[in-house]
Amino acid sequence: MALIVQKYGGSSVGTVERIQAVAQRVIKTAKAGNQLVVVVSAMGKTTDGLVKLAQEISPNPSRREMDMLLSTGEQISIALLSMALQELGQPAISLTGAQVGIVTEAEHTRARILNIQTERIERQIEQGKVVVVAGFQGISNTTDLEITTLGRGGSDTSAVALAAALRANRCEIYTDVPGIFTTDPRLVPNAQLMAEITCDEMLELASLGAKVLHPRAVEIARNYAVPLVVLSSWTEDKGTLVTSPPRVGRPVEGLELVYPVDAIEFDTDQAKVSLLRVPDRPGIAARLFGEIGRCNLDVDLIIQSIHELNTNDIAFTVTKNTLNSAEAVASAIAPTLRSQPSAAEEAEVLVERNIAKVSIAGAGMIGRPGVAAQMFQALADAEVNILMISTSEVKVSCVVEAERIDQAISALCKSFDLSTSPIVGSQPPSPPLIASPPSPPVRGVALDMKQARLAIRHIPDRPGMAAKIFVLLAQKNISVDMIIQSQRCHIINGLPTRDIAFTVARTDAEDARKILEPLAAELGCAEVVVDTAIAKVSVVGSGMINHPGVAAQMFDALAKEKINIQMIATSEIKISCVVDEQSGVKALQVIHEAFELAGTTKIEVPA
Ligand code: ASP
Ligand code: MG
Repeated sequence: MALIVQKYGGSSVGTVERIQAVAQRVIKTAKAGNQLVVVVSAMGKTTDGLVKLAQEISPNPSRREMDMLLSTGEQISIALLSMALQELGQPAISLTGAQVGIVTEAEHTRARILNIQTERIERQIEQGKVVVVAGFQGISNTTDLEITTLGRGGSDTSAVALAAALRANRCEIYTDVPGIFTTDPRLVPNAQLMAEITCDEMLELASLGAKVLHPRAVEIARNYAVPLVVLSSWTEDKGTLVTSPPRVGRPVEGLELVYPVDAIEFDTDQAKVSLLRVPDRPGIAARLFGEIGRCNLDVDLIIQSIHELNTNDIAFTVTKNTLNSAEAVASAIAPTLRSQPSAAEEAEVLVERNIAKVSIAGAGMIGRPGVAAQMFQALADAEVNILMISTSEVKVSCVVEAERIDQAISALCKSFDLSTSPIVGSQPPSPPLIASPPSPPVRGVALDMKQARLAIRHIPDRPGMAAKIFVLLAQKNISVDMIIQSQRCHIINGLPTRDIAFTVARTDAEDARKILEPLAAELGCAEVVVDTAIAKVSVVGSGMINHPGVAAQMFDALAKEKINIQMIATSEIKISCVVDEQSGVKALQVIHEAFELAGTTKIEVPA
């Protein structure tokens, strides 16, 4: 007999008929000899409707009253589903988050789950009942026992957290799409349903998958190795398995990480190669990394900062023992890279051997401005100068001088309150739960058209500058996505300076510019440049670790379409490029094609 947690989203319980259909499916699973806990969302667009009602009364209602209001949506659906089950002869009981004992911090409208008391649920299950639990809500750990909610889309988190606490055999998330796709099927009609994906990949694909599966739910699944599957409530298809590495005995106390960062990683076996002043036109990155790939050299971080006049800088890291070969490749290509055929100046190659990489990782940084800033601040306070910055959805990596790595690590452990010893090097790809072929180098491709790019020119090159910029943005609640620091150094008034470029939500671009201009002036930087007409395309796959040539393949696909790459940033399992807005969809399509992710099954996507 297995214990299964099933979660049904709003559209799956949107009408009485649908609730009855869910009841049938639940009974089928129970009849097959399973014990069941069913988590449901509010019916259809109920939560949106409640938000609207509140706004009609107050433009800025108290967060406590919002929780009181929004938590009612789920109370309706649990009662109705429980009745539907009873009507069909299946013993069932509905319970609110408070009745279960889903204990959260007292943060209204965005509470994190601290622990779940399982004993009442277990008693009901033992009596042969299906337990129907209200998703998205909990009860505060304060004496006043306040009703809290977990944040929009939080029912997924409730379901996975319950599965972890109950040590369920499986958690099934039922939604209105058949699972997770290799990319957005509305933009790429031959996108394919993935049979499986790792939690780490899923987190890096947050912009693609967040609507299907809440990132916090993915994080809990990963930390507690909850077998998770996402599937359609309309079909019998198998859906997508979301896998995680096996874990042993993690306490269920402090279930959701209250910390935004759950690991500090470092790698001292790194060396950096920079190419300065390469022409700003399509095909350069493809040629460089194509050649590197052909020499079978494995590249770790790659960054390209925004162009200056008509040239770019590209920098990448390799392991120390391959530095000489990488340098040779770069030096061989450099003379052929001139901004104009007649230009006297060719690209310049620089290498740095004494560097190390330190990263902070954790899904908690998604949507929390200030985590990257906190990292830069901690490094600044420890007087560690940052040589290179590269960011992804769930990771910020900084290259620093090798001799400062110990100070960097201890400063970060202290700042993020991590007493555990940091993880050395890159994590190997997660072993799948079920024997399956090795991870493909690229699992999925995402496009984000809602970002804008800002750059600050000529920032003095000394510790603390990045911290100043990103702390200020975080204070104004502006989330920063990709951050890249240029390699080229300009001597202004006798002092070295660099540029820093980053992306923010387009809706925040103007505010960010206004906030940064006075700071830039105060620090003696040059102008703040904004470009809102950009698109970000990313490829994600754990198989790209130790698999040379993936970046080259992506850049090559763009080069063939004559799409110019404006910015590059990477993590171990993700490569992101910024291109101009108009090329966004095309870029997505050609990259999806290049990695042979297309399938023949026609996908029906609900509007
Ligand atoms: N009903 C809540 C919302 O709409 C929670 C959920 O559906 O996951 O955000
Ligand atoms: Mg949802």
